[in-house]
This record gives sequence, C-alpha cells and structure tokens, in this order.
Amino acid sequence: MKAPKLTREYQTETICVQTGTRKDTTFNAVAVPIYATSTFAFEAPGQTKGFDYSRTANPTRAALEECLAALEGGAGASATATGMAAETTVMALFPAGSHIIAGQDIYGGTYRLFASILSTRGLEFSFVDMSDPRNVEAAIRPNTRAVWIETPSNPLLNLVDVAAICEIARRRGQVTIVDNTFMSPIFQKPLALGADIVVHSTTKYLNGHSDMVGGAIISRTRDNATKVAALVNALGTCSSPFDCWLVMRGIRTLPIRMASHQRNALALAEFLAGHKAVEHVYYPGLATHPQHALAKRQMTGFGGMLSFDIRGGKEAAFRFIQALEIFAFAESLGGVESLVEHPETMSHASMTAEARRAAGITESNIRVSTGIESAEDLVADVARGLRAASGA
Ligand SMILES: *Cc1c(COP(=O)(O)O)cnc(C)c1O
Repeated sequence: MKAPKLTREYQTETICVQTGTRKDTTFNAVAVPIYATSTFAFEAPGQTKGFDYSRTANPTRAALEECLAALEGGAGASATATGMAAETTVMALFPAGSHIIAGQDIYGGTYRLFASILSTRGLEFSFVDMSDPRNVEAAIRPNTRAVWIETPSNPLLNLVDVAAICEIARRRGQVTIVDNTFMSPIFQKPLALGADIVVHSTTKYLNGHSDMVGGAIISRTRDNATKVAALVNALGTCSSPFDCWLVMRGIRTLPIRMASHQRNALALAEFLAGHKAVEHVYYPGLATHPQHALAKRQMTGFGGMLSFDIRGGKEAAFRFIQALEIFAFAESLGGVESLVEHPETMSHASMTAEARRAAGITESNIRVSTGIESAEDLVADVARGLRAASGA
C-alpha cells in the first residue's frame, strides 16, 4: 500500500491526520502498529530492515517522530520518555563549563533540573526576565552556549519575543531552545521564528488525553537532529512504542482540540475578568494582556491555559478549588478534561519561595487548564467556585 507522500505544502490539519500512517506493508493496517519488540533480526551480517534495537529506533516511534518533525517544520525529531527526559537529553549537548540563559518563570521541573541538578554538574545558569530581550543580551557571558525560552510562561502567561531573542543568540552562535508545550505546533512554530530546537512535553496537548507521559525534541537542522538522536540512544531517554502510539493517536485530533480549548479558555478569561472576586486574569487572548500585540504576532492562537489571582489569598483559593464540580484538582494540563491547580503548593513548589516571588507567583494564583467540555458548563462551575470562595 502506498503511504501518502507528504511535503511541507500540506496544511497542518492534513499533516496531523496523514503523517506516519500506512506504514504496514504486511497487512496494510491504516493505523501504525505498536511494534512491541526490543530487538529485530538481522537478514545477514550488517544487513537489517532499518531497525536493530528499540532503544536506538523503533518503527512506531519512527512514525511519531516523522509526524512531529513535519508538524514543527524540523529536519528530524526524537520522541522521549517524558518532557523532562527531552530536556535532560537536550542539555547533554552542552559540555561542562557552558553557560545557559533561561527565563525566570519557566516550568518548575525545568527550573529544578537546571538550578539543583545540572548546576552541580558543570553547567552555569542565569535566570532572567525574558519579557525584555535586552535582559538576555545583558546576561550573556563569554561561555554562553544556549538560550532556553518558554513562552507563554507558566503559570502567569508572560510572553517572550522568540524572533528577537533568537536573533540576539544567532549573532553569537548560541543555540536557542524553545519549550513549545503550552501552544503546541498548532498555535506556535518556534523553528519558523528562528529557534534551533523545540522541546515538548507530549504528556500535554500533543497526547491530549491524560493517559501517558512523554516528550519530544525537534531540530531545525539535520546535524542537530542527528546529534540529539545519538544522545537519546546513548542516554536511553527514548519513549516506548505504546506511548508513541498514544501520542500519534492524540495528534490526529490536535487541531480541533486546540480550537476547542481556546474557545473555552477565552470564555472563562472573559468571565473571570469581569468578576469582583477576581483580582487579575492572565490570558494572552485578552486585549488587556500587556503583550497581546506580541501574542497576535508570534502565535496563531492563544491556547487553553490561563491563570488568575483570587481575592482573599490562599484560603479563598482553596475554597474555590474545592467547590468545583467539573474541574479536577490536579497538576498537568492539555488534556480534554478541565483541570485546576494551585501553583504555589503544587506545580511550582519545587521553586524556592524567593524564586517564586521574583516570578510573581503568589498564594492567590490559580492555574486553569481548560478542557473541551461545554463553555457554558465550565463558566457555571467557576461561578459556583467563586461564590464559595467569597463565602456567599
Ligand atoms: C509538563 C511540562 C514539562 C515536563 O514534562 P513531563 O512530561 O511532565 O516530564 C516541561 N515543560 C512544560 C512547559 C510542561 O508543562
């Protein structure tokens, strides 16, 4: 059976559905089979059908990687066991003594990896407020090798001007890496904005169903893609065939899910912004977001993540969360079901109190991952939570 020959000329929706399909020449299965095997028999000494050992490469993983590379517009991709495995692998590109600049309000687990693990193993880090590209320029040292960008940030949805920072780094030969988990390739394409490498936690939107953990690394150049694939093999950070299959299955519906997440997030953000129990709403899709213009310039959508500061501090925040019916009180994000969490005590508890303060994360902050349920039901649930929070 002929697999569709996909080029960049196809639209994103088509890539999501068609890339990596029809790989089975034995039975012509339309969906990619799960190749649950550790090893592959050689046909003769030195002669394989392209696979020899599943840590190095596996047909199910290869199908997902083909799809991921096409979606981000990269030369190649590697699927990893988790988002953190993707980050650990990418950081292994840099030798001891390298200095890396990262945002001050990056994902808590990324901050922990950089600040408490890799900084004791020969890498140096500076955490800066990246909302102004000049802060990146000011942090550059002679041994700066890379700039780590996460946009929008978590949980306050601050944006980083990817093109401006990539331009600063490119002039000095530094590698730019963008964590594109929050927007997914549907709403943001960092490689097209000048980045060298994109990482994802596929646990989130790409899988979209909260039933596995995974990660991905997509490189703009063939050279970087080859180096990353060699590191995945050497470090053993690859994803299992079953998890890869789940991500592929998720990606088939990614564009329609993202549209639905966004529609619901906007409805919630607008409702929250007009509510007297709410102090501040963080959502790049609101015209009042200080970087709304940048959001419209570098993203093609505003995503499904938002957060807000509730009046009444931590007690009000917990009363709100516990009064909700539809929203699950859970970490993570990007699934079809709506989730709510308290960054100070959950997703961002691994940051020091001082680092949280510098990033502007308070005890009043509540993060929402908007699912794809009815917007009307979600707004009603949040209204119920806010009534409980204010003791009404
Ligand atoms: C969840 C997440 C990660 C880590 O991914 P895991 O799959 O949990 O290891 C990294 N970056 C961002 C932005 C995330 O949301």
